[in-house]
Amino acid sequence: LAKGLGKGAWQRYQNDLHTQMVQRLEMRSALHEAIEDEQFVLQFQPIVELGDKRITGVEALVRWQHPARGLLGPFHFVEAAEESGAIVGIGSWVLREALRQFAQWRAENPATTLRYVSVNVSARQFRVPDFTDVVRKALEETGARPEWLLLEITESLVLRDADKVLADLKALRAMGVRIAIDDFGTGYSSLSYLRQMPVDVLKLDKSFIDDILHSRQQHALVDAIVTLAHNLDLAVVAEGIEEAGQHAALDVMGCQYGQGYLFAKPLWPTEIPARTAAPEAMATV
Ligand code: C2E
Ligand code: MG
Ligand code: MG
Ligand code: MG
Repeated sequence: LAKGLGKGAWQRYQNDLHTQMVQRLEMRSALHEAIEDEQFVLQFQPIVELGDKRITGVEALVRWQHPARGLLGPFHFVEAAEESGAIVGIGSWVLREALRQFAQWRAENPATTLRYVSVNVSARQFRVPDFTDVVRKALEETGARPEWLLLEITESLVLRDADKVLADLKALRAMGVRIAIDDFGTGYSSLSYLRQMPVDVLKLDKSFIDDILHSRQQHALVDAIVTLAHNLDLAVVAEGIEEAGQHAALDVMGCQYGQGYLFAKPLWPTEIPARTAAPEAMATV
């Protein structure tokens, strides 16, 4: 690679490598500092029942309130946090904070429409030996019920070290925690494989939803996945619904739940109670 480069280009290449390395190290220490200083915050995006748009759940989404760069979304730091291992600490914080907040909402309004909080778990975080204990402790410390928690994992996690993952998923479900496959359709797993996995919910990736109004094939594919998922006793959440037409089409397919900018963007915790305050008559506790 370097051979074809002139002297100036080679120097620039070296500088780039050096800069990248320095940036990575800086990021690493910044992330650790951020955990210590509690610079992470959560937003919550509503997950609605497509039939009546009622908010039945929320997904916790982490943000970094960076002292110099402002509010950063996961795109800016989750990958780096996975590489450095910082995601383990960040993830434990997210889990506890999401459960603490959720338990507070339930306590403040027993008639809330909220049934569960969904929390993303990265592969690295799931692979720590005592992940099930991390979850158990978070539930104990926050007084949250296991049924309130839905853990979102990805297909790739399920496919790698299947035995350990399988055992942990079973243990979590035995506790009453539910499991969702996030971004379904972007990986390699098949529905027939998922049938054997202890999983409760399938979250259909936005890339699957994007084209359903414009591509008959895509529409047919999503329709088939929804039917098959239901036959396997999996609930389906369609992600990234932005248009009313998509909502209508998914509703006709029998897809029960959805999430997307059409209903709500990720919200600050203070914005949730007003949107989930059901009249007594509607609430089921
Ligand atoms: P995800 O779990 O698939 O979360 C959904 C993402 O799609 C969120 O982005 C959400 O804001 C965005 N989204 C929702 N509806 C729409 C829509 O209608 N249109 C468009 N264009 N986007 C929509 P966000 O918050 O930037 O998060 C990105 C990813 O970062 C998440 O994807 C998840 O994989 C990861 N992430 C977020 N929070 C955590 C966390 O606490 N732990 C871990 N390990 N990963 C997290
Ligand atoms: Mg997710
Ligand atoms: Mg998702
Ligand atoms: Mg997604």
